[in-house]
Amino acid sequence: MKQISPQGCAGHFIIRRWLLAAALLGVVGRPNCPAHLIDNPAQAGVVHYDSSIMPPAPVISNPAGVGSGGGTSRAAFLSGAFLPFADRVKTHADGAFFFVESDGMPAHRMMVGITAWQQQVPLPQAYVGANAWQFPLQPEAATNPVSAKTHFFRGAIALAVNGVPIFNPIKNDGRTDTYLAGELDEFGGHAGRADDYHYHIAPLHLQRIAGSNQPIAFALDGYPIYGLTEPDGAPAAHLDGFDGHTTPSLGYHYHASLKYPYLNGGFHGVVTERGGQVDPQPRARPVRPATKPLPGAVITDFKSTPDATGHTLDYTLGGQKAQLRYAEAGGSVRFEFTDTSGKTTTATYSGSDASPPAGDPPDRPTEAISPRPPRNPNRQPWMKVHALEMDLNRDGILTRAELLTEVNRVFDGYDQNHDGRLTADEYNGPPVRSPMGGYAKQHYKELLDETGVITRASLTREALRMFDKADSNHDGELQPNETDLPAGYKAEPPGR
Ligand SMILES: [Zn+2]
Ligand SMILES: [Zn+2]
Repeated sequence: MKQISPQGCAGHFIIRRWLLAAALLGVVGRPNCPAHLIDNPAQAGVVHYDSSIMPPAPVISNPAGVGSGGGTSRAAFLSGAFLPFADRVKTHADGAFFFVESDGMPAHRMMVGITAWQQQVPLPQAYVGANAWQFPLQPEAATNPVSAKTHFFRGAIALAVNGVPIFNPIKNDGRTDTYLAGELDEFGGHAGRADDYHYHIAPLHLQRIAGSNQPIAFALDGYPIYGLTEPDGAPAAHLDGFDGHTTPSLGYHYHASLKYPYLNGGFHGVVTERGGQVDPQPRARPVRPATKPLPGAVITDFKSTPDATGHTLDYTLGGQKAQLRYAEAGGSVRFEFTDTSGKTTTATYSGSDASPPAGDPPDRPTEAISPRPPRNPNRQPWMKVHALEMDLNRDGILTRAELLTEVNRVFDGYDQNHDGRLTADEYNGPPVRSPMGGYAKQHYKELLDETGVITRASLTREALRMFDKADSNHDGELQPNETDLPAGYKAEPPGR
């Protein structure tokens, strides 16, 4: 078995890549590989911190209040906020946007303390170039601010000053508080569906590195997120519904909190929502198919090799120890799973065979519930084959709205007694002659809810699952390139 150093040092490899840029800025911080001291990780809450990283002196003296100025000083304010993390975060601005490049891996220990684990692990992501994080250089107050209580359940809503994205504290089922559900580690983060590490609550532990007068994150509308108090330590007073307010020295800004909403509870500023997330934003790239929840697992330790390419995650399952080791090499990642009986299996993924999108998994397994017969190798996803038949306005694009229209039409067609439940005599009855009508008949077993009937919700859920799987760029529409079929594809005969 490979020897793993006890000193976690994730992200160290970036230092080499960015040393020159940092040197040009005159801000080379201390390389942060030595001891990662966690202050009292057992303490409930979020304020645990890697005290080995210290900000370079110029940042500490950066006065609060610079942020309210015009173009150049705004850019200086923004880059100053990220400066303490210059060894792993690179920033630049154009006339309209501020860009942040990172690999999304923090300096601190990850994953420890999670009691609701989906078996994902942190892997570096290429948030660089056209895939960098961005937000407006000059935030603009929105005419109709949008709450994160009802929107933006997918993707990031903010970016921490260490280059780690922050997702909505409510996960994408629209109701679960990830922190209260035990999904987050001692620093408020976890790995998402693409093995992408992100926080779901405000990273208050960054305050000590950033300096008490500096923001710890930026909402993707461009407004800064400060800690629990004002830069001078005064309590944050008169906060609005998104935990933000305007002060003379800082202009509009948000504050972190220890309970929901934890960070910006919505967007005071202008953002674009597309497919349920702020747009644009970078994509994480999965190397392996999405994994499933592992009920009962508790993550107890996480260590990385000095070069941060190898990691060991220890967990218990039903009180028994188990371990997952993984290592990146040459664009692929090799996983070694040791289960509670001591048996070890391995798997190597290179990314090309992976299909799940970035972000968190839905609240139900993405696999089919019932076992299926062996697949015809030429078979194509149902949604791809039938998308254009449901394209109501015939513009060659299937939108979610068009799909939902089809779902409702089919449901109402089968629901003969209009009681909102499809029983066997209804779905076995006269067919609704449409693509989804045929699907409901053939796949009724997969559509039954726990009470053994098909409901509008269970049919909708399955339809959206197939839709989201085909919607590879997650824009809420199936474009022609997402529904084109291989040359020579022949539809299977009806009745299959
Ligand atoms: Zn998450
Ligand atoms: Zn304030």
